[in-house]
Amino acid sequence: MRVGEAAVIDPRGLDELIRLLGDLGYETKGPVVRDGAIMPGAVRGVEDLPAGYQDEQAPGHYRLRRGEGDSLFAWAVGPGSWKAEMFSPTEELWRALVHGDDVSITEPESPVAPLAIIGARPCELAAMAVLDRVLADSAVPDPHYVARREGAFVVAAECGHPAATCFCTSMGTGPGVESGFDLALSELNDAGGHRFVLRVGTERGADVLARLSVAAATVDDLAARNQMVSRAAGAVHRQLANEGLPALLARNQEHPRWDEVAERCLACGNCTLVCPTCFCSDVRDTSDLSGEVRRGRVWASCFDLDHSYLHGGSVRTSVSSRYRQWLTHKLSTWWDQFGTSGCIGCGRCIAWCPVGIDITEEAAAIRETDGAVHAATARGVGPR
Ligand code: SF4
Ligand code: SF4
Repeated sequence: MRVGEAAVIDPRGLDELIRLLGDLGYETKGPVVRDGAIMPGAVRGVEDLPAGYQDEQAPGHYRLRRGEGDSLFAWAVGPGSWKAEMFSPTEELWRALVHGDDVSITEPESPVAPLAIIGARPCELAAMAVLDRVLADSAVPDPHYVARREGAFVVAAECGHPAATCFCTSMGTGPGVESGFDLALSELNDAGGHRFVLRVGTERGADVLARLSVAAATVDDLAARNQMVSRAAGAVHRQLANEGLPALLARNQEHPRWDEVAERCLACGNCTLVCPTCFCSDVRDTSDLSGEVRRGRVWASCFDLDHSYLHGGSVRTSVSSRYRQWLTHKLSTWWDQFGTSGCIGCGRCIAWCPVGIDITEEAAAIRETDGAVHAATARGVGPR
């Protein structure tokens, strides 16, 4: 099989693929059921994948249930993204040991085994591409991210069952995928049987596939795959109107909607934790009486008061200013910084917001009342 060609495999073939990647030295991870949700986790074979599970998502709502079928990918993204595998929530940067006048500094070893991701959704591939711009292609690349990302072998899984919170079609990130993967699965479970169209995206993917005994996908298989993706696209109803959105948000910094959303927003930061592209981090030092000092990095959130701490205090003291910062960075100023949107339409922040705040609804509300100005600002009372 060459790049661009497609094979067809059954669940046993998928099992062989996962085990082969393990034998080739990859740490194989994929979707597993954990704590009532689909989460990234260790998978040694098909038996670890969430067979028969389906999800139900809405603003502030996520439920996973066991259905009757045996499909492995009949769900949309859960709260955990692949970001955490490459940009760890906590990371030791270095440690120093003080002996009298001597200080020795050591850095942690890079992970031993490269990662093989089984079943990354199309929007998650788009998220990785966004993070690449931020953490790998920037003037100061993050060596931890680069080490983990460069070695990663990606087996994508196209979506046949989008959630009500998904809006990938607006962002051009799903439910099908054409690049960014080594191999791409499309699960078909119809009269033709339970099988996967397996497309080859890279030479590396072709090399792995060459070690397996696979049949070429038929015209009917490929047509069924196209129908699955079309059906899934038709099932994505949530939309984000992107036209002129960065400029729209930039000129509505004093819109009253920011205060309205702040009346509901708890500033909990859940939206930033589940977002596959949020990349803010903080650096913390700890020391002990043995003379050892450790410097670590932890994820941070723009909803924290300390996130905007400058000399003498925080700049964004109100919840409205922090929500505005988050949304306008995602959908507006990210374009200035990185030449792309910071949102890939996965809908996680909608489902996992405890009060069901919806980024698409907030952007639409501002568009509908473009130019509205907060009453205090209009009276010249000054910025909030
Ligand atoms: S928008 Fe929702 S998830 Fe985000 S900080 Fe506010 S309450 Fe928390
Ligand atoms: S802002 Fe929300 S919908 Fe967009 S990528 Fe982040 S979590 Fe997904």
